[in-house]
Amino acid sequence: MSRRIVIVGAGFAGLSAAIGISADDDVTVVSDQPWCEFLPNIHELLSSRKRPTALRLDAQGRIQRAGHRFVLDEIVEIDVATHRARGRTSGAHEFDALIVAVGGVNATHGVDGADRHALPFKSVGDCARIRDRLQALAARSGEHRVVIVGGGLEGVEALGEILRAFPRFHIELIEGGPRLLPTTPRSLDRTVRRECAPFDVTVHVETRVEAVHEDAVLTADGAHIPSDLTIWTGGPTGSPLLASAGLTPSAGAWAPVHDTLEASAAPGVFVAGDAAQLPAPISKQAYHAIDMGTCAAANAIRRLEGRPLEPFSPSGKPMLISFGHLGCFLVVGKWALFGPAVSLAKEGVFQLVAAQLVPPLDTGSAAGLWDRFAGALPEPGWPGLSSLIHGLVGATDLRVLPPNP
Ligand SMILES: Cc1cc2nc3c(=O)[nH]c(=O)nc-3n(C[C@H](O)[C@H](O)[C@H](O)COP(=O)(O)OP(=O)(O)OC[C@H]3O[C@@H](n4cnc5c(N)ncnc54)[C@H](O)[C@@H]3O)c2cc1C
Repeated sequence: MSRRIVIVGAGFAGLSAAIGISADDDVTVVSDQPWCEFLPNIHELLSSRKRPTALRLDAQGRIQRAGHRFVLDEIVEIDVATHRARGRTSGAHEFDALIVAVGGVNATHGVDGADRHALPFKSVGDCARIRDRLQALAARSGEHRVVIVGGGLEGVEALGEILRAFPRFHIELIEGGPRLLPTTPRSLDRTVRRECAPFDVTVHVETRVEAVHEDAVLTADGAHIPSDLTIWTGGPTGSPLLASAGLTPSAGAWAPVHDTLEASAAPGVFVAGDAAQLPAPISKQAYHAIDMGTCAAANAIRRLEGRPLEPFSPSGKPMLISFGHLGCFLVVGKWALFGPAVSLAKEGVFQLVAAQLVPPLDTGSAAGLWDRFAGALPEPGWPGLSSLIHGLVGATDLRVLPPNP
């Protein structure tokens, strides 16, 4: 009898897990959207540099082509004791092994008014909404004031795209930590601030947001910052499903797993991608999620066959942080490179990873790859190549940022 494997979520981790299992097994992927959203590039929606369709990979089609069942539904309950996951509309899905790959949810950390008045920055739909609001704001006369809460990777990438498309806007960037991009070398914080100098940008660090109103942001030090549009990039937190399934010790936490990705709380249940909390925590990155999906799939099969599980070993890859038309950072340890040409590397990663996860239907053909490349450009066809040419011309403007104290 074939083994029933259920995968919850078809993002980076769920999709790569599904691709890693043979069609001989009885695999069901249940995800609440038919695509895998390419989140590392969603900032580009703000400036219309990319269109939503370019960032939505056809996960459903890819999973079905791999010979598996795809169910478009939200899993609302997992019973690890009876080995059942329940879909909101599709009912019970029984499993012999389960892979939970649900990513995270937007976290507003209980800040008063943030859910109502700040726009989240967590999905293609979120960023398309922000783009629409930015365009509506630009069409209005008078001042255009945008507040970005969060000066991490998402906040800085959002700032770069707003400067690209709306260079006259007044922008306030608020970060709770002592500097922008707190997990990267200090040189990045300094470079971002220097690049912002010609623009109307104010950076606040060590500043905690206390409340968000419709037209202002209030900080813990008593400042009242007027805002026509507030963008929330406060980072993700664990899905409520993890807590209700008993996979986490508390609500909002990530699911603790062994180094094999098997849930500490439930043998036979594997957790992959952002949802998993390894004994030695790693950054929540798409490339880790893809590798974890592959590892979780292999270990789920090993568990069903009674073979020993293998540990997940995270690969070290450089980090790419886009800063609009001003450039892109490539961070390797304590060193970084900055310049417009590095943006080509980020685009290259997008094209390669997208082609690896969901190859064009006419695999290997130049036409199929061109369709995806052209589809990712702001304008179809040759006019869109201007951005590529801009990147190539900027190849000479490359700065090495050595480690600083
Ligand atoms: C703005 C932003 C920028 C980022 N930039 C980078 C970057 O530059 N480089 C990088 O490597 N990483 C980046 N990341 C992180 C990266 O996107 C994540 O690490 C990656 O998406 C995690 O993959 P995942 O499969 O765990 O989760 P996701 O990609 O979030 O996929 C989870 C899937 O599960 C589905 N799902 C959730 N709950 C349920 C449910 N109950 N039932 C059914 N389906 C469900 C979701 O709809 C989704 O399709 C960024 C993330 C964000 C938000």
